[in-house]
Order: sequence, then structure tokens, then C-alpha cells
Amino acid sequence: MKDKIWLSSPHMGGTELKYIHEAFDENWVAPLGPNVNGFESDLESFLKEDVKVAALSAGTAALHLALLQCGVSYADEVICQSMTFSASANPIAYCGARPVFVDSETDTWNMCPIALRQAIEDRVAKGKKPKAIIVVHLYGMPAKMDEIVTVANEFSIPIIEDAAEALGSTYKGQNCGTFGKFGILSFNGNKIITTSGGGALVCNSKEDKDRTVFLSTQARDDAPHYQHSHIGYNYRMSNIVAGVGRGQMEVLPQRVDARRKMHDFYLQILKDVEGVAVFSEPSQDYYSNHWLSAIVIDETITGKNREALRLAFSNENIESRPLWKPMHLQPVFENAPFYGDTVAENLFTFGLCLPSGSNLSDIDRERISVVLNSFF
Ligand SMILES: *Cc1c(COP(=O)(O)O)cnc(C)c1O
Repeated sequence: MKDKIWLSSPHMGGTELKYIHEAFDENWVAPLGPNVNGFESDLESFLKEDVKVAALSAGTAALHLALLQCGVSYADEVICQSMTFSASANPIAYCGARPVFVDSETDTWNMCPIALRQAIEDRVAKGKKPKAIIVVHLYGMPAKMDEIVTVANEFSIPIIEDAAEALGSTYKGQNCGTFGKFGILSFNGNKIITTSGGGALVCNSKEDKDRTVFLSTQARDDAPHYQHSHIGYNYRMSNIVAGVGRGQMEVLPQRVDARRKMHDFYLQILKDVEGVAVFSEPSQDYYSNHWLSAIVIDETITGKNREALRLAFSNENIESRPLWKPMHLQPVFENAPFYGDTVAENLFTFGLCLPSGSNLSDIDRERISVVLNSFF
């Protein structure tokens, strides 16, 4: 059997162990210490815009703390992009709140600003104004932030940006994750950089960051004994894990370049294949890190479907995967309201994510191109 080619696997830069050794040498083996502080300031310098970053145990934890700080609680409603990974929506349920799902548009595959407006107007008419809007930058592609921010501001609803897949992506030159009241990042093993598992909450003020750290470290009041006036969480990032993050931040620009080259590679191979569209930026305003390269197959033109291609890859021990199955079609959310049409549903039916790792070799690319060329 040939070696497995993964969709997206961890890619170490080489200096990660140095930071871990420092942590051991100084006995900072705890959810605080120099690597946590260093990783946060590395992220702040990278993102600019005067943001403050709190390093946490996961992107999912970051979303949970963002919702809590937007005041989301029992029986509230929160608007969420339907086309996404379940971790974008699950934290709404952690708060006892209810998701209201919104369809995508075809340019960026992200939240449709028109459907967003319809959703808000209808929820307000039904007597409940949504407490927050979770917009996702899917596969690294920035959402239509100008339009979405305009709608959100009109109704004074805070935006939480799920930038778990979009570290290094920009919209009109501004980093994804810095547009909303909060932004979340993920450093899970399959993301553009990894800490093995981890996440961060991007905040707009020192107060919000301090509050996030407070909530993520069991909400301990200022007293010599353990005193609590709030429910807390154990969501802080470990200083060992943050060491991996510091090493990864040194190579983030190279990782973005490599992922974007994978996207160029697919554009090149598929440029003459009619009926196959490679997911690409709609204009110069959008700069995607192309965390995952993806295609949509028009079956009426190609006579082939995405499942056949997935199996053709699988026969060669190459991983590919259907796009995210929209949340409004998931059994767990079947009773949640949905606004929009069938854009997300069609993307799920006809789309496939292709191997996109920054660590793929020329030999890997050759194996991938053989499958694609013989399939189409
Ligand atoms: C990975 C991911 C998350 C969750 O991040 P974790 O660090 O794995 O908890 C949330 N949203 C999206 C869109 C993701 O891809």
C-alpha cells in the first residue's frame, strides 16, 4: 500500500521543542507561563488592529466564552452560518440557547447577507431579537464582511467571527478574526498551524481579554482563599501546548504560501476540465489562506459525481472529503429555524475537499494529479 496522503496533517517548523524544553527547564508545566504570554503576543503582532488575544484549550471553548460575553443565556437565539463544522454551533447549545441557521451565498460559500437580514427581521417580528451572529470564514475564505457588518450594525447585534480555518486570510487587507466583537481561532491538529489542540479568543479590549482569562481559569475572585461569584470554566491553554504554538508562529507565513500553492496546483490541473470549479477568491478584496482546497463538480457536464472521485482517491490511499454538511440538515439541529435557499445544501451535494497540507511533496502531488487526470 502506498503511503497515505492526508487532507491536512500537522506540519512542524522545527523550533517547537525548544520552547517545550524551556517550559520544562523552568518548570512552567501549567496552564500559565512564558509560552502562553509569548504565544498571545505573537498572535497579537500578527493580527494587528490593536486586538488582545487570550489563548485557550480549543476554538470551541473560545466560541463558548464569546457567546457568554455577548450575554447569551437560556432560551436566547443566536444566528449561525449553516454551512460549517458543528463546533461553530454546539457552543450555542452549551449556553442553553437556540441556533437560527442562515444559508450561504455562492461567491464565498459563507453567510449570505440577504438571508441574514431576512432571518433577523423575521426573528424580531416573532418577538425575539437574536443575541449574536456567528459568521464563519470557511476553508480560509473571508466572508462578505462589509455587507454582514452593515446588517449587524443596523440591528445592533454583535458579530462573533469563527476564523478557526482562516488564520492568515484577509478581507480588504484586514485580518480575519479582527472584524467582530470577538474572533475565534483554532490550533487543532488539522488547522493551518497547530498546537496539537488549542484555540484562542481575539478580543477588542484589554477588559474583554481579562474577562476571558478570568472565565477560563475557574472565575476566581480576588481573595486569598477560593472565592467565586460567577460560574467559571477550565479553558486556559497549557504552557506546554503554547510552546508548540510559538514555534508554529515562526513559520505561519510559509504555511499560508504552501497552502495557496496547493490551490494554484489544483487550478492548473483542472483549468481545462469543463464542469469543475476550484473554490477561489471572488475578487482582489479577498485573500484566502486556502486552508483546504475544494472543488464543486457539475454532474450534468462532467457525468461524474463527487463520491466517485472520493472513492478513486481512496483507492490510491489519498484522503478527500465532502464539504461540511450544513447544520440545518443535521439530525441534532433538525428543529432549528433556517433562512435561505439551497446554496449550502448544493455545496454539500456536489463539493469535495482535496488534499491541501503544507507538507505535501512533489511525489504526493504527482499521485494526486494522476487520479484527477484519469478521473476527468
Ligand atoms: C476547527 C473548527 C472549530 C473548532 O476548533 P477546535 O479548536 O477544534 O475546538 C470551530 N469552527 C470551525 C469552522 C472549525 O473548522
